[in-house]
Amino acid sequence: MIKKVLFSCISVLLLLFVSCGEIDYDKTMYFGYISPDQITFENGLIFIDYGNSQIVKFADFDSLITVPICPKPNCPHTDENECSALGINGTIFVYNNSLCWLANEMRYDDVGNLTDNTTLYMSNTDGTNRRQVAELEGYRVSGGAFVYDKKVYFCATDVEYESEMSADYALEYLYSYDFSEKKFAQIEFLAEGYNSGAYIRGSFGNALFMIYQGTPELGMRENYDEHRKYALYNLENNELDILDKNTVSASEDCLICFNDDGTVFVRRLNGEEICISSDRIIAQTANDYKIINDILISSFYGVAYDLKTGTEYNLNNSGVVIAYYNRKYILKNNSTGEIFAVGERELLTSTS
Ligand SMILES: [Zn+2]
Repeated sequence: MIKKVLFSCISVLLLLFVSCGEIDYDKTMYFGYISPDQITFENGLIFIDYGNSQIVKFADFDSLITVPICPKPNCPHTDENECSALGINGTIFVYNNSLCWLANEMRYDDVGNLTDNTTLYMSNTDGTNRRQVAELEGYRVSGGAFVYDKKVYFCATDVEYESEMSADYALEYLYSYDFSEKKFAQIEFLAEGYNSGAYIRGSFGNALFMIYQGTPELGMRENYDEHRKYALYNLENNELDILDKNTVSASEDCLICFNDDGTVFVRRLNGEEICISSDRIIAQTANDYKIINDILISSFYGVAYDLKTGTEYNLNNSGVVIAYYNRKYILKNNSTGEIFAVGERELLTSTS
């Protein structure tokens, strides 16, 4: 099993985050959906609050208090030169108790061509002691990061810019940065074309679950699905395994998939498959599902399905379920950034 890792994801689609480990529902924390720019750290969540000057905050699952990471007493958190919770952007993750982020910058090179650069920064988890660690020239990074062993894995895009305004052809890769050897490595070519993208959307055992795409010509939206691939990259043997197209996400060491008739099913790491017998949990909505505490949950559609008992529920609370912690579900109000905890009875009402 993958060691418990911390990672973050960015995606144009909904993203799923998982923590891995031996399943013990009494003790373990489970982290489900994490939208762009959020990472679990200790007993809480570090996230970029875009509604508030792009300030980095920590939501504590014990106290349920959300505060800027800045340690300065009486800081108004308004001046980027003074406040360590400001000026952090891009793909964030935690490595070795340090807050890290991969920040993109578009610039003109020496001969006047538009190009991307990504800088890896590191700081203490309160945003202080900030320093530049490494630079990846010619690539922009999005689509999430995943820390495993002494490396962080992420998707990097090489855009062939024609002009600032054009839709550009791009190449998508899986990359890593090795913190012990202090270098980037290109691991896999994933896709190329227009409308391209590559996203890490969770883990499944020892593998990263990724979605990537690229169309050979512009304006091929109708064939979009044909050019999208779903894959597992095994971090132990470095093999890339292309999955059936009907796999949409990975969560709590499960793959969420659907059949040709549109019914959703869950494939566990041990090979077990659980078919979801619900008219409301269908392929069209499957992108939004994550599994938290062995319950398939869609905060957006307000429905849930207990994988152990087959019971279907309505969700009672507004907010996105992000974790199961101390026998409570942690929910986040994405507009205020505040978190709150509710018990299972308060969260779920049976539909039968
Ligand atoms: Zn501050």
